Amino acid sequence: MSERTVDLEKIERGVRLILEGIGEDADRPGIADTPRRVAKMYAEICEGLHLDPAEFLKVVPDETHDEMIVVKNIPLYSICEHHLVPFHGVAHIAYVPDDGRILGLSKLARIVDRISRRPQIQERLTTQVAELLDDGLRPKGVMVVIEAEHLCMSMRGIKKPGTTTVTSAVRGNFRRDPRTRAEAMAIIEKK
Ligand code: ZN
Repeated sequence: MSERTVDLEKIERGVRLILEGIGEDADRPGIADTPRRVAKMYAEICEGLHLDPAEFLKVVPDETHDEMIVVKNIPLYSICEHHLVPFHGVAHIAYVPDDGRILGLSKLARIVDRISRRPQIQERLTTQVAELLDDGLRPKGVMVVIEAEHLCMSMRGIKKPGTTTVTSAVRGNFRRDPRTRAEAMAIIEKK
């Protein structure tokens, strides 16, 4: 987590400079309030810089389940740290609990959301989710797969809308045992 704090006024000044820089009239009525609105929005969509995702690592009491758990299609919205435009898609998480340590299903979605709310790259986001679960839950194994569309690719440059980038991070028995990995992938890919 960052030691730095949110400074709305600083974001506002920056957004106004961007508007001026692209040759807009920053005082035009339609956008006069835009710096203030954008400042509040950025504070919200980057709040994960200042909040601990580990707070969602609450193990369900008295559980004995020890088979693979797969949660598919967790919605994901993040910001590409290279261009500050969104990338969005879905996360799939598979893990094999150890000693009955399992998480409530909504907690996985909250962890993905929290780690997404900061300037990110998809590869690091994927790894951070896997490592948080590996360290905090100590499962037999965990696999995180993220499929996302990057607006910096869709809107500019090579302009390939609909292109999906897929990243994965595997730990424990998913890394050691190709059959465990294949079993999870089959579940994830099943429509
Ligand atoms: Zn980008």
